[in-house]
Amino acid sequence: MASSPDSAPTYLEGVVTSSTGSWYDVRAEGRTVPSRIRGKFRLETEDVTNPIAVGDRVTIRLTEEDDTGFITEIHDRVNKLSRRAAGPRTGQEHILVANVDRIWSVQAVEFPAFNPRFLDRLLVAAAIHDIPAGLIINKVDLMTQDTAPRVMDLHLRYADLGHPVIVTSATEGLTSQLREAFAGQINAITGPSGTGKSTLLNALEPDLNLETGAVSEKTRKGTHTTTHATLHPLSNDGYVVDTPGIREFGLRDVHPKDLAHYFPDLAPYVNACRFPDCTHDHEPGCAVKDAVERGDIHPERHKSYLAILESLREEQTPEY
Ligand code: GDP
Ligand code: ZN
Repeated sequence: MASSPDSAPTYLEGVVTSSTGSWYDVRAEGRTVPSRIRGKFRLETEDVTNPIAVGDRVTIRLTEEDDTGFITEIHDRVNKLSRRAAGPRTGQEHILVANVDRIWSVQAVEFPAFNPRFLDRLLVAAAIHDIPAGLIINKVDLMTQDTAPRVMDLHLRYADLGHPVIVTSATEGLTSQLREAFAGQINAITGPSGTGKSTLLNALEPDLNLETGAVSEKTRKGTHTTTHATLHPLSNDGYVVDTPGIREFGLRDVHPKDLAHYFPDLAPYVNACRFPDCTHDHEPGCAVKDAVERGDIHPERHKSYLAILESLREEQTPEY
């Protein structure tokens, strides 16, 4: 029984950009289609608070009026950023965003000072989840003769580790390189507060109208546990998502003895240590420490490694 072309359902593939419980905004073919889940389509899972997450690629069937859709299929996820849910669903996983092409850490030249510990934690978490990471050095307009050498050193250090490094000034409109880097992919941004994340996003896409400064900080603190991330479509086919609560993601899954493997600059040395269970901390004959002393590994990276090691020991495996 052939249906007439008029009544054949229209299917579109799109990306979930936000969710409000039962409705999902799906970006497909340049527009946003509010969509629901179709009856038979079971989503019950005990471990996840939101089985369809922002960033999920889905197929929708348009309703006859064409202004809303039904989600008929979720495509396999490449990766996801998630955290433990709070409140009555404690212990369940809450997916912040799926299918992240790159996660970017925003750091400032100054105010607040560049924070390598925060950045290195993020890079390790991203490596564990197999998500490519990049560095945005913002507030370059504040760079002086005194701070320039350190900024250049940081730029080189992280570029050498294989990360794209982009220098911006959100307030001076120096963002074209970032726009280019964001094109055509899903970008998550994170970083300490005050580094200029909201200002950057507004500079990239003035229509976003994100709150900046003290106001946003206040709102965010109050709403951390309930806020769902929103994927903002950019005019260059890219998406950007600010990820509240991202600090909690990821590190719980790594065993302390595997930590060095997620430091690409430390990893090549670990097999040369005298003791096979070397933690690269206090042991004699440690090839990692030798490399630090020779200047082959930056001492700040080793410090970050030790700081993360310490927090892992506290959190999960006291006997290690
Ligand atoms: P967020 O907490 O990371 O979202 O940071 P905001 O976007 O709210 O910015 C914090 C403060 O830094 C605001 O007062 C911004 O005006 C300022 N700011 C942001 N980007 C820049 C920049 O490139 N240069 C300078 N000088 N200030 C900036
Ligand atoms: Zn060692």
